[in-house]
Amino acid sequence: MNIALIGLGNMGLPMAVNLLKAGHKVAGFDLAPANLAAHAANGGRAATSVADAVAGADMVVTMLPAGRHVAAVYVDILASVGAARPMLVDSSTIDVATARDVAAKAAAAGMEMLDAPVSGGVGGAVAGTLTFMCGGTEAGFAAAQPVLKDMGRNIIHAGNAGAGQAAKACNNMMLAISMIGVAEGFVLADKLGLDRQKLFDITSTATGQSWALTSYCPAPGPVPAAPSNRDYAPGFAAALMLKDLGLAQEAASQAGAATPMGAHALRIYQALNDAGEGGNDFSVVFRYLAAMQREAA
Ligand code: NAD
Repeated sequence: MNIALIGLGNMGLPMAVNLLKAGHKVAGFDLAPANLAAHAANGGRAATSVADAVAGADMVVTMLPAGRHVAAVYVDILASVGAARPMLVDSSTIDVATARDVAAKAAAAGMEMLDAPVSGGVGGAVAGTLTFMCGGTEAGFAAAQPVLKDMGRNIIHAGNAGAGQAAKACNNMMLAISMIGVAEGFVLADKLGLDRQKLFDITSTATGQSWALTSYCPAPGPVPAAPSNRDYAPGFAAALMLKDLGLAQEAASQAGAATPMGAHALRIYQALNDAGEGGNDFSVVFRYLAAMQREAA
């Protein structure tokens, strides 16, 4: 297939590599010349503009920072594709409202579009093991799925336009809340003189069990592969978690959903970010809370 990939950053660049490996032709575009050069060095075509990238494309994939970038780039995409009508896939993590708005504009122009945000991070993008959470029609999902398989492992149809972004916002809000909960458990255990490994052994087979505990323990020690054992090098950066918590709160406020723990998680990650920890893995919340003192009663 001829694929246009717009946004060749930490995620888009390795996703393009996997598309090239699968035998597709990939015309990439990014505002950063260094990213364009890296794409060309990987065997892709460095396009000179969005219009140049999408010319002759069967599919257009965007991997951009936020909703405003996606909305702006889609103005160019929809103005450039003409009668060709490629399949459109936005894999950026953006707000549900913009995802639905852009999908409606694509549909009005006669094109199928999926919102297809990913989980798995840069490691998953490099390994081609991303999870894609897709929102759009059955026909759009069926058309995009084989290509998404070249970049990921689990490709899930979540529902209509915006459902992929909704799933991503819910998942990451749940993850942030559970990560803070696990971190607080270890902070308290340390203060009570309870051995971390003992707490891990007990809670990982008891009702305190969660992915944040067993796969990604925020306290150094019990899970050797976790970022907590490499000074919280990401992984999944706390700044990105803060972004996703903001998207979840935006969606909750528009939908009228009560999410008090999500709101509080956002405040904690905001404070952590303000303290200069945004570039560290989001499990650094353990170290952040451990450094805090509470007045003893
Ligand atoms: P990034 O900042 O590394 O890459 C974004 C790229 O988009 C940059 O290279 C930038 O130059 C380019 N760009 C911005 N505006 C553009 C425009 N108008 N035209 C062309 N290119 C433009 O970000 P990333 O880490 O690759 O993340 C991309 C998306 O994936 C984000 O929405 C992020 O939330 C999401 N995501 C990231 C991770 C992760 O671990 N990095 C994990 C899951 C999801």
